[in-house]
Amino acid sequence: MKLGIVGLPNVGKSTLFNAITNAKAESANYPFCTIEPNVGVVAVPDERLDALAEMYHPEKVTPAVVEFVDIAGLVKGASKGEGLGNKFLSHIREVDAIVHVVRCFEDDNITHVDGSIDPARDIENINLELIYSDIDMVEKRIDKARKLAKADRKFEAEAALFERLLARLNEGKPVRGFEMTDDERELVRGVSLLSAKPVVYAANLSEEDFRHNIETNSGYQTLCRIAADEGAQVLPVCARLEEEITELDPEEKQMFLSDLGLTESGLDRLIRVSYRLLGLISYLTAGQPEVRAWTIVEGTKAPQAAGKIHSDFERGFIRAEVVSYEDLMACGSIAAAKEKGLYRSEGKEYVMRDGDVVLFRFNV
Ligand code: GDP
Repeated sequence: MKLGIVGLPNVGKSTLFNAITNAKAESANYPFCTIEPNVGVVAVPDERLDALAEMYHPEKVTPAVVEFVDIAGLVKGASKGEGLGNKFLSHIREVDAIVHVVRCFEDDNITHVDGSIDPARDIENINLELIYSDIDMVEKRIDKARKLAKADRKFEAEAALFERLLARLNEGKPVRGFEMTDDERELVRGVSLLSAKPVVYAANLSEEDFRHNIETNSGYQTLCRIAADEGAQVLPVCARLEEEITELDPEEKQMFLSDLGLTESGLDRLIRVSYRLLGLISYLTAGQPEVRAWTIVEGTKAPQAAGKIHSDFERGFIRAEVVSYEDLMACGSIAAAKEKGLYRSEGKEYVMRDGDVVLFRFNV
């Protein structure tokens, strides 16, 4: 899963991104691929892995991961194809979801590009660039559907769909939140529109407001209103605190968080919220060499889930041997789960569930 961090200059993107890259250092013993400087890879917090590790004493534990891409450099006119702006948009095209950092803190020492704190205007400035780019794409798509409709009338419905979408975009509203049937959604997905991407708005609050006045911060309230309209999510954070938290060792971190009345860091919450927003779940594999979490989209069937491990697993899929994490923990071992009939053999139509502990059987 790839998340792109966007936002106007001076809203706290780099600060949040630093927190992310610091967090990565904690998991330095995981074999992550080498990556570019604007990419940070963090583990998806999952206490089930720790419990499985106690049961199996594996050589290594590998969590599911999320990639954050720092997409700086939005300029007005990005959608008009001006140098940097163009690159900005192409980076956004590559991510699964957007974390849009919005400044909700006052600080006279830190200039705001537009002179004042105004989350609604800031969001609109960014969203409009994405919407303009989408308008171009949708107009092209309408032309194409109209041409095809001359030979085959079934394309008329397609043209009508994209015209309806265009009308919405022309009102300055994102594709996100546009009502569609499943078939229509499939068609729209084919165009890869930027404003269709799921969004988490990260309300970057001052430390004071984050500690005491989240609900009464007017920027946060504005964000909640906008997000509700779009079907997006809002997450209050204090980027500076997040940066400090990632510099602490695990024990200090827990103390610091409980002092704030929290059980997890903003970063961990951001990862969890994004995971849910994208409809992602994890299945688990457990053995002596490795205990590992694998990310799949909700609704994925067993063979495709197996394909995440290796394409051979999908091609030669025979069956999946499955026990739910809860059942395994309650029984204490696979053998005990087998005795109780909780260790199931599932075929290729099986829809995977979050927390399934799985062994795939396959032909090579
Ligand atoms: P970017 O341009 O969006 O990447 O913004 P930066 O992360 O560089 O932040 C711009 C300035 O705002 C820096 O001086 C940060 O220290 C400051 N800043 C970031 N988050 C907060 C915050 O939560 N509260 C306050 N007061 N300042 C912050």
